[in-house]
Amino acid sequence: MFHGKMKALTFSYDDGVFQDRRLLKIFNKYGLKGTFNLNSDMLGSATAFFFGGMTIPRVVPRASEIAEIYKGHEVAAHTLTHAMLPKLADEDVIREVENDRRALSEIVGYDVVGLAYPNGGQNYDQRVIDLLKEHTGIRYARTLVSSNSFDLQTENLLEYRPTVYHNCGWDNLFRLAHEFVELKPDTPKLFYIWGHSYEFDRGDSWEKMEELCSILAEKDDIFYGTNREVLLGE
Ligand SMILES: [Zn+2]
Repeated sequence: MFHGKMKALTFSYDDGVFQDRRLLKIFNKYGLKGTFNLNSDMLGSATAFFFGGMTIPRVVPRASEIAEIYKGHEVAAHTLTHAMLPKLADEDVIREVENDRRALSEIVGYDVVGLAYPNGGQNYDQRVIDLLKEHTGIRYARTLVSSNSFDLQTENLLEYRPTVYHNCGWDNLFRLAHEFVELKPDTPKLFYIWGHSYEFDRGDSWEKMEELCSILAEKDDIFYGTNREVLLGE
């Protein structure tokens, strides 16, 4: 149960780009909560990358701006340099994750305990999980694998499967949102959406995202929490 409620909604957004501010405005307007996964060695950087046929600027706020931007939400780790963890030696896996976690903890003023595995494809494996368990303060980690389900995963929190990636098609997302709002479950159910806020710069995605948030907002039987609040209950 989530603070006495059977349903919870959470969001997870990666890379800490400047578009997060616009997304946070929407979340704050509708009383929604999210977790933002940041690369502490990339704070203050400005680069660009190619995505979906477009060159996307990747502008990351400075460390001194982070606490204020993400106030009321959760900051979690995404490794120091957006590293492909399974390709690294043990000590580098630990350094990429634990040093990011510690640097972010210092910046936001609380103990960071979450992680989203960076990059696509096979971006984690059992060795990485075991290293996180034994050598870092990470207590949950989000994968890229969609569960397409509202069932709450209570085990193996270092390979948490979100419900959907927001890029799964707006029709699909709206269908899931209506289904979740109508649901009257007798076991805890979680709707967990993840993505990158720069992806909303394409087409009318910002308007669609706001519409999605408005459908899910202000429901008495839904708890709106960060990843940490819904997965760890704290
Ligand atoms: Zn990323």
